[in-house]
Amino acid sequence: MSKKPIKIYQYRLYPTRKQMRKLEQWLTLCCEVYNAALDERKSAYRMAGAFLSYEDQCRELPGCKEVRPDLADVPSQVLQDVVKRLDLAFDAFFRRIENGETPGYPRFKSRFRYHSLTFKQYGNSFKVLEGGKKNRGTLVLAKLGHVKMVMHRAIKGIPKTAIVKRTPTGNWYVSISVELSEQEMQAKGLPVSEEKVGIDVGLKTFAYLSSGEEIANPRFFRTEEAALARAQRKLAKAPKGTKERVHKRKVVARIHERIANRRKTFIEREVSKLIQRFDFLAVEALVVRNMVKNPKLAKSIVDASWSMFFKHLQTKAEEAGRQVVRVNPAYTSQTCSKCGYRQPMPLSVRVYECPQCGLVIHRDHNGSLNILNNALHACGRAGRVIPEVPG
Ligand SMILES: [Zn+2]
Repeated sequence: MSKKPIKIYQYRLYPTRKQMRKLEQWLTLCCEVYNAALDERKSAYRMAGAFLSYEDQCRELPGCKEVRPDLADVPSQVLQDVVKRLDLAFDAFFRRIENGETPGYPRFKSRFRYHSLTFKQYGNSFKVLEGGKKNRGTLVLAKLGHVKMVMHRAIKGIPKTAIVKRTPTGNWYVSISVELSEQEMQAKGLPVSEEKVGIDVGLKTFAYLSSGEEIANPRFFRTEEAALARAQRKLAKAPKGTKERVHKRKVVARIHERIANRRKTFIEREVSKLIQRFDFLAVEALVVRNMVKNPKLAKSIVDASWSMFFKHLQTKAEEAGRQVVRVNPAYTSQTCSKCGYRQPMPLSVRVYECPQCGLVIHRDHNGSLNILNNALHACGRAGRVIPEVPG
């Protein structure tokens, strides 16, 4: 089953104090429903060996509202989505078991970690009003009313879902997803391209392209990491239970948010450039977490950036009809991209020198060429045939 390509618009929301109180209350209630539904599934299985489905649990919601009248304040579809989220968590759990992994059982959520509400069915549970001269847009939510929204760009197409979320610093945003039609896809006007590229994410540079170009790590990786470390030290020193500590925690949260925003901007820009140029993009299917071992690097930032980069690249490529191929990262740095010779390459060695064919090339450039070759090979396209390792 292929999913229709979607586009996501994110806007800042400015709920009134009263609306904010209500949204907070809904989050608390949804979190309770999530935990109750999880508990119910657990005991149904423990007591009767029975599996409850999404439909089973949705059927119970009206009854729950009779026992807990405050649940009736939350739009029905939002509550159904809570059950859906649990259902998806179980799906993922069983899928991973089938794949032979040992995943953790779905867990109860703390109310601090439950921070979004999903509204489905446009026109029924939510609606968007474009801004006029006086305002910059309005989001109409069922049982809440008109919420001020800053639409910095107009939505094209009919919205499918709206996810309203609260950030750790208490700001509110909405992500509205829109399905793209065939014409809209074509109208995106991407140039026809037959260019292919291999992309090797690195430690010193953000990524190396098989074309020989580099995408440098932005300077903020380093400066923001330093700011974060400083703020975290100050937080650790602040005595527990004081106002000072609350304040310091907010500072830390604010830096996290700023990093996330800047990272997003950086990745969106780079991905969009790549999609414009290349039709076939080869990347490593790597477990990012294992890779960041250099303690001097802006660890968390780089780490999160790579996974976000791969994800975003995949999404944008699908939207644009470009092909992304992920290859096994084994030996991409050890293998000579010209003749296939293999040798150990410790991280400190920055240049690949091949004793067999005499190739001298930047380590990551060599890696990106191998990634491209492997991907072409995997797709049955004319990649370089790697000869057997001699001796
Ligand atoms: Zn060689």
